[in-house]
Amino acid sequence: MTLAELDGVTLDSETTFADLTTLRIGGAPLVTVRCASAEAAIAALAALDDASQDYLVVGGGSNLVVAEGQLDVVVVILDFEDIDASVADGIVRADAGAVWDDVVALSVECGLGGIECLSGIPGNAGAVPVQNVGAYGAETSDVLTQVYLYERATRTASWVPAADLELAYRYSNLKFTGRGVVLAIELQLTTDGLSKPLRFGQLTQNPGERRPVAEVREEVLKLRRSKGMVLDPGDHDTWSAGSFFTNPIVEPQLADSIQASVRTARGDEDADRMPRHVVGGTTTSGEGGERKEKLSAAWLIERAGFAKGYPGAETGAKATLSTKHTLALTNRGEATADDIVALAREIRAGVKKAFGVTLEPEPIWLGVEI
Ligand SMILES: Cc1cc2nc3c(=O)[nH]c(=O)nc-3n(C[C@H](O)[C@H](O)[C@H](O)COP(=O)(O)OP(=O)(O)OC[C@H]3O[C@@H](n4cnc5c(N)ncnc54)[C@H](O)[C@@H]3O)c2cc1C
Repeated sequence: MTLAELDGVTLDSETTFADLTTLRIGGAPLVTVRCASAEAAIAALAALDDASQDYLVVGGGSNLVVAEGQLDVVVVILDFEDIDASVADGIVRADAGAVWDDVVALSVECGLGGIECLSGIPGNAGAVPVQNVGAYGAETSDVLTQVYLYERATRTASWVPAADLELAYRYSNLKFTGRGVVLAIELQLTTDGLSKPLRFGQLTQNPGERRPVAEVREEVLKLRRSKGMVLDPGDHDTWSAGSFFTNPIVEPQLADSIQASVRTARGDEDADRMPRHVVGGTTTSGEGGERKEKLSAAWLIERAGFAKGYPGAETGAKATLSTKHTLALTNRGEATADDIVALAREIRAGVKKAFGVTLEPEPIWLGVEI
């Protein structure tokens, strides 16, 4: 049986990665396979695996940097999107194709707490566990109980506990490994109408306080919009893949020497405000036993001399940093993958030269390398 003959599976040869990604960049896949149900997806994925055909599941395309031209890969789209929220016990189940922010909005409407800080993040529910999506002090791992996972090794799907995914900062064993495809997720939220304890400075003056979920969602959306981190087709600052580099985790000695060099170059006030968060060691953040420090990639990029909007619209550059946030690389309308890669390399080399830190890109790369 061919792919096209499978129940609930349709093929299209028109869609390009530029159509599918938030950077609006990228060439043509061999074909796009749309699956209308989990069963259809399992059959299609098994057929592709049996044929040893490379494929990429694409959700909202908000964490992808893809090369131009013809690509030797099949795109799989999970076109099923039910969301079920139980007000009584706080359990939320969402199909992989559900828009993540719809999951958050519905949960908040039901008075369920735990994901309000993850409001406004683009993409689909199925991708959320892949890099343990997080923002404003909240992470998917705080609330994820299990995923309905198609395992490529066995060609079968089953509910897999979150503990089996090795969730860590912007990582799970689904990212970069080709282990499997998430078909649905299950979250355990709280039912008292209050947010998770707030930790992020821009959201609270009293760390640990819990506030009504709807209030927190609105504030998070407002904050994210001010940084160009909510998709808006009319705003090129949001034609991005979100934060382009992860926050580096470094030895405390390196953090000390970076702070000292900023002190010399820019004075005490700036150096004293350098963001440094202890991870590992005595903390329970799951980052491992050794004490290290997480620095802010955005802060380092700015201190390395790359201002918001770099290199500036007046230069005619097709790819620039967002004018609202130094961590987002953006397509000003006509950028190609090469433009994004060149800018990413320049930023990375600049930060390395200034501070000795190698920034790691957060998105998934297809057909291109930094
Ligand atoms: C403006 C903007 C703001 C952002 N803000 C944040 C933020 O605050 N925090 C954060 O963590 N991220 C953020 N991101 C990154 C991105 O939105 C998230 O990583 C999101 O979860 C990606 O979802 P997606 O559906 O778009 O995945 P895609 O980009 O379509 O795919 C990303 C990767 O996940 C894989 N994948 C997708 N779906 C599945 C599935 N069902 N099963 C297995 N693998 C799958 C893909 O194959 C690919 O490797 C932001 C991005 C943008 C553009």
